[in-house]
Amino acid sequence: MPKDPFNAYRNAGEPDVTVAPSDPILSNMSSGTPSKIMEGRSLAKRLLAEAAAEVNAMQSKRGVTPTLATVLVGDDLASHTYVKMKRKRCEQVGMNSVAIELPRDTSTQQVLDEIRRLADDESVHGILVQHPVPRPIDRRAVFEAIPIEKDVDGVTSATLGRTILGMPAFASCTPAGIMRLLAEYKVELDGAHAVVVGRSPILGRPMASMLINAHATVTLCHSRTRNLPDIVRHADVLIVAVGKPRFAQGDWIKPGAVVIDCGYNVGTIGDVDFDAVIERASLVTPVPGGVGPMTIATLIRQTTDAAALQLGTDC
Ligand code: NAP
Repeated sequence: MPKDPFNAYRNAGEPDVTVAPSDPILSNMSSGTPSKIMEGRSLAKRLLAEAAAEVNAMQSKRGVTPTLATVLVGDDLASHTYVKMKRKRCEQVGMNSVAIELPRDTSTQQVLDEIRRLADDESVHGILVQHPVPRPIDRRAVFEAIPIEKDVDGVTSATLGRTILGMPAFASCTPAGIMRLLAEYKVELDGAHAVVVGRSPILGRPMASMLINAHATVTLCHSRTRNLPDIVRHADVLIVAVGKPRFAQGDWIKPGAVVIDCGYNVGTIGDVDFDAVIERASLVTPVPGGVGPMTIATLIRQTTDAAALQLGTDC
């Protein structure tokens, strides 16, 4: 049986509720009243500063710079922007990034060859394939070619399986970033009713698993769910990952609920009707400045952690 690459690794993939939060409520006070806004941007900044310190330590102790390879297929403008943003964050913390750009008509086999080359390259510690990958490329086959120890974006079935079981892995970045944000704001998950709207393999599904592992009672909704507003009205914690602008309405929100808006639609519009939702919620993530920065910060942290894992070191 092959050795578990995460055996010697203590940090990755544990339910993020174990991360000791600082006191955000105090830092989030303006004129004596706690704000209802969950500041993903400022927490992400702190995580990036920690990553920069880790990179520094790895360079001075081991002479190694953590490196993220990004694979971008096709000419989708939004995907180009996302990859650019991720590479910029790498640069900011002193990491290297390697950009692989392939034309739209690349075959599945050619993408697989590229991933396998990166998988064998010891100077590359994390591999990110920007999605969506254009059709007819077999996206699942491409993701599955990423070795689990370099799967810093959490897209492989092995990573998802480990996430479900609460085993160490580099979990999908958006839900992992959300768990970190919930911990930061000391949101009580144990026994809470969490409703997740959206069941994609990179967001809704791992999100539901992470919440279950944190002892929430979880309802996972999707496009075939009946009476969605009625289900959402029972949510203590609501995660909306649908991809439809202002989808979740103010009168769906249980008073005092915590609302996480994953949406990032054209025009930088979230999946919840923010102005109406904030009236009833106790905490809500803004768009931009909520989930988005946490996703990238998680990717960066998981890449430095992947480098540490591959080097067999704590720093
Ligand atoms: P996706 O793969 O398109 O999945 C959307 C999910 O929403 C599906 O499960 C779909 O159900 C469900 N859905 C669609 N219409 C619905 C309806 N009327 N009622 C209930 N459920 C409905 O999207 P995704 O990749 O998970 O992304 C979701 C959102 O998060 C998008 O806005 C995306 O831009 C954003 N996002 C943000 C970040 C970030 O870093 N900020 C990262 C990733 C994604 P079915 O499964 O039944 O079709």
